[in-house]
Amino acid sequence: MTAGFTKPTTLLRNAEVGVRKLVGAPVPADPRRGFTDHMEVLSSQLMIGYKKYPAVQDYPNAGMKAAAVAATALAARVVRKVNDEFAGILMLRRKESALMQEVLAAHFHLRAGEVTDKNLKSNVVDKPLSLKGIVEKDRRWVLEKIRQKMLSLSFHLNTGVYLIDIDAKRRDIQAGAAHVYDPDDDDGTEAYVANTKTKYDAQTWRATNWKKVSNSISGFRKGEIHVSLEDLETYSTLSYARVIIHEATHKYLCTDDVAYAHDDTYPSKSLSQMLNNADSYAWAAVSLYCGELKMGTPADEPTDWEQCS
Ligand SMILES: [Zn+2]
Repeated sequence: MTAGFTKPTTLLRNAEVGVRKLVGAPVPADPRRGFTDHMEVLSSQLMIGYKKYPAVQDYPNAGMKAAAVAATALAARVVRKVNDEFAGILMLRRKESALMQEVLAAHFHLRAGEVTDKNLKSNVVDKPLSLKGIVEKDRRWVLEKIRQKMLSLSFHLNTGVYLIDIDAKRRDIQAGAAHVYDPDDDDGTEAYVANTKTKYDAQTWRATNWKKVSNSISGFRKGEIHVSLEDLETYSTLSYARVIIHEATHKYLCTDDVAYAHDDTYPSKSLSQMLNNADSYAWAAVSLYCGELKMGTPADEPTDWEQCS
């Protein structure tokens, strides 16, 4: 395992500060100051970013790194398998399995026979091909939309993931502003993808301009995937992988958090809303991977959705 390396932006900044000090020039505040300063390649699929503290030895520790590597590898495997299943139905015209129908009903609210969504003209399982069907927004059209998104996810997860540590307990800067950790105010955020582009005031490092980003090239415009290496170490590998898939849909597919699978409002959302919902893709993916319907619950205690049975 490598020891990691200093972030290129940190190296550049350090070099500039060094030269300015050498020639006696003033050192301006760093307008792009970020929290992390180290990167480390942990596997062919995973690079992490984190802050290295002289005072904190061995952070992130071997257990945290191993958990992240295992979860990233599983996330890639999960989505690859799901992508194959959708391709089988749409390209090889295999029949939808009972589980596929159950998953589409539970996580996308595509319930066989029901045409409740304004976008849908018909909803027949394994409908034979017809000329009309090619232009009509039918069940196959919805499956094709999901397949394309799963394919994009599979590509990104299988070619490599960069995860930045949230490190809530130690970080001293958040969104460009000074940050002091308050244990009473720890909301236990496990992961997120920033949905904004921020400009920082060069003197105070405070955010001066927030702009919501939502367009089709979101992968380049959105922030990186942030995860709590410390909190997620305790998750099952399947749950950790599900979190990575969820965040990857934000980054690469521009999804929103319309509703989480454990929310009361989850069952009442429309098909169109679910097609833009991060948790729908994440839970559908782990369900199809495990071969059984998985659904989030508010339970804190270990529950069946943490593992394939
Ligand atoms: Zn989310």
